Amino acid sequence: MPTTLRFLVVAPVGRDAELIATLLNSSGYASDRMESIAGVEQAGNSLLLGLILTNEALVKDGLEALRKLIDAQPEWSDLPVILLTSGPREPRQAITASQVRMQFRSVFLLDRPARKELLLSAVQVAYNSRLKQLEVRDAAMRQYQSEETLRNAEKLATAGRLVATMAHEVNNPLEALGNLLFLIEQSSTIDDARSFSHMAAQELERISDIVNQTLRFHRAPAKPAITDVAELATSALTLFRGKLRERKIIECVSAEPTFAFCSAGEVRQAVVNLIGNALDAMPEGGRLYLRVSAATRNGTLCARLTIADTGTGIRAEIRPNLFNQFFTTKGSRGTGLGLWLTRDIVIRNCGWLRYRSRTAAPSGTAFTIYLPAIPPAALGRTDLARPAGRPATEEAA
Ligand code: ADP
Ligand code: MG
Repeated sequence: MPTTLRFLVVAPVGRDAELIATLLNSSGYASDRMESIAGVEQAGNSLLLGLILTNEALVKDGLEALRKLIDAQPEWSDLPVILLTSGPREPRQAITASQVRMQFRSVFLLDRPARKELLLSAVQVAYNSRLKQLEVRDAAMRQYQSEETLRNAEKLATAGRLVATMAHEVNNPLEALGNLLFLIEQSSTIDDARSFSHMAAQELERISDIVNQTLRFHRAPAKPAITDVAELATSALTLFRGKLRERKIIECVSAEPTFAFCSAGEVRQAVVNLIGNALDAMPEGGRLYLRVSAATRNGTLCARLTIADTGTGIRAEIRPNLFNQFFTTKGSRGTGLGLWLTRDIVIRNCGWLRYRSRTAAPSGTAFTIYLPAIPPAALGRTDLARPAGRPATEEAA
């Protein structure tokens, strides 16, 4: 497999291929020859600078092969094609040339025999256009990779917070367990010892619950599947139980089994972000609402998940920045990635996100996520928001 960027020349009749290749090589452009356009497919896209064809390459299945090749190009690619044609002297060939020009976006037509200078100028334009495309592709790739890094950073931050929560949660029953073991040791009757050991078993069960919930969080499947959103959300809430108790926050949960087609791992991450934000907004206590129920949106059956708090509310002036990367009002305690990632997750799961907030008493914020109950392919469109031409996130009045 060649590793340099090169043009492919398909000129099956006569010495054209050889002449063109020699001209290109002597001007510093690498090129390879191919017998037919169909053979180009195997040659790999990213190294392909462009195609140089003669009319004969388009006869028989050539035009169809060219269409296939162009259709199979990745999104960033606009493959330059230079077609050498015999022009009006041969009407049949002229029709093919105009067909090619109308059907494909980046075609240069050159009369045969082509003057060297004309051919080289077309090659030069094709070369520069292709390099630009490759640059754009690389920039898009870097952007994607840096976003991927941010996603992972926020996942790790969540994992870190959960581990801290787990350690804290485990600590209380562990202390109780130590005390109970001491009491068992000191017991004078077998009945006393039994009753203490019964209590110890309960504490042990609490620890095992906490550990299981945390593990379940990390093991949640990443692949989309039919998922009970209520089960997922309530189990995510369990992870915060200690903090809720400590802050004297009252939980109001109403969640009946409701199914959506989504990635459980991703949605759980979104739910943890939203619950975390709700808790942060209620340093002095309040109420945390978790509601899951079935709903329809744009005629599609959905699972609707709401996480609401009676916290400070979101000031109007910061709302335009809410979903931006790194936007946080929490200083070094915040990453500013939670809502950005939550929106990303909702979009990736073909859902829709809406929020409401008030800073005047009674203040509070409610985030609602809609997730379609059926796979996107069955939905016949890519997300819930698009049919009405709306963005995937929206602030409700
Ligand atoms: P972080 O939590 O790390 O600050 P997020 O992207 O999760 O980042 O949230 C961005 C900002 O949005 C927060 O810093 C906060 O100002 C605001 N915010 C998000 N959710 C709430 C909420 N439930 N109540 C009040 N403010 C909120
Ligand atoms: Mg957050």
